[in-house]
Amino acid sequence: MNNNKYKNPRIKPIYPLYRLNKTEFRIGAQLGITAEFTDPDGQLWELAIRLNGRPVEIVIKEMQKLFPELSHDDILEGIELLDNEGFIEEALYDEESNIAKRFMPNVNYFSRYIGSNGNRYQPQKLLNNSTILLLGLGGGGSNILTLLAGLGPKKIIIIDYDNVEEGNLGRQLLYTEEDIGKPKAEAAAHAIAKINSNIIIEPYNKKIIRPEDVLEHVSGVDLVICAIDEPPFIAQRIVNKAIVTAKVPCVFGASQVSRGRVFTVIPGVTGCFDCMNLHYSMRDPQFNEQFIAFRNIEFSPPTIAYAPAIYQLTAAIVDEAVRVITRYAEPRSLGTQYEINFEDGSSFAHPTWPRYADECPTCGNGDIDKWEIFKYYEDKK
Ligand SMILES: [Zn+2]
Repeated sequence: MNNNKYKNPRIKPIYPLYRLNKTEFRIGAQLGITAEFTDPDGQLWELAIRLNGRPVEIVIKEMQKLFPELSHDDILEGIELLDNEGFIEEALYDEESNIAKRFMPNVNYFSRYIGSNGNRYQPQKLLNNSTILLLGLGGGGSNILTLLAGLGPKKIIIIDYDNVEEGNLGRQLLYTEEDIGKPKAEAAAHAIAKINSNIIIEPYNKKIIRPEDVLEHVSGVDLVICAIDEPPFIAQRIVNKAIVTAKVPCVFGASQVSRGRVFTVIPGVTGCFDCMNLHYSMRDPQFNEQFIAFRNIEFSPPTIAYAPAIYQLTAAIVDEAVRVITRYAEPRSLGTQYEINFEDGSSFAHPTWPRYADECPTCGNGDIDKWEIFKYYEDKK
């Protein structure tokens, strides 16, 4: 008998509990979550409707009045059965006062992933205590920042060197017409202060040119989000060098024409951006050729940015950031490129690349001169 396992158990309020007929009932209504219970005596139904966050001993007493044949353990087993299906959580009344009302919907979302022995408030508390460094405030970064503001980290450090232009307003919805001509970092800081005045926002109007430009700002940072992709590959490589040196995880995102990609580097754990360069240059005979050819044309396409597409990518980036910080669910892009297709709404993860501890010159003990691919990066300087 385990008297302590449940205290104030309840069916998660995010799920409906409903009877189909006298012997069958369901919990949940979403595809993949709904469970159907066959219950000829009505015992499980009577138990389920009583599980609303009251002390478990009171529920057990009520049940034994209705069904004297049931033992204390029988009733606990019934709760466990519902718990094993993921439908039970503890009420955790003490926690509610610690969380601002604006974050309660997040807590309820996290409750889908947290079992009766967990704490659905914990991911939100981790977010509220986190410090995030966001690089880039353009089509990706400005929308990432809007989403972050809603999630309520303790502090966000933002870096961009651009000014707001009219051409930004169709997709960078953090900015208004009044911001045209102002530095994006300044305009963004102002906008975020209006969304959530509790967030400490530290804006820097500067361009990331060397790893040192990132390293200056990583002290106390829990996570970096890299939303700069100009020049392509080179920008990510600079940021990668910095986050590996500082040992801070980083979620990278980049948009293509009608697809976007997210990948995450956890220094010392996953492969880094240069491990990916090694991986593909070893496996794909055309990787280096493509890299050189692409670099040589100095491809500079017009801005391809359609807000509904960008939002799909930025939502995935921010959810990934939340997963890395809180582990409310497994991150989807650790050492792999998680790709979203805006055309058909599908997504998939590319094969994972490993961490090359002996070969990578950036996160391992490798020799940079042994790898042709890095020469092409250096030439570009
Ligand atoms: Zn590496």
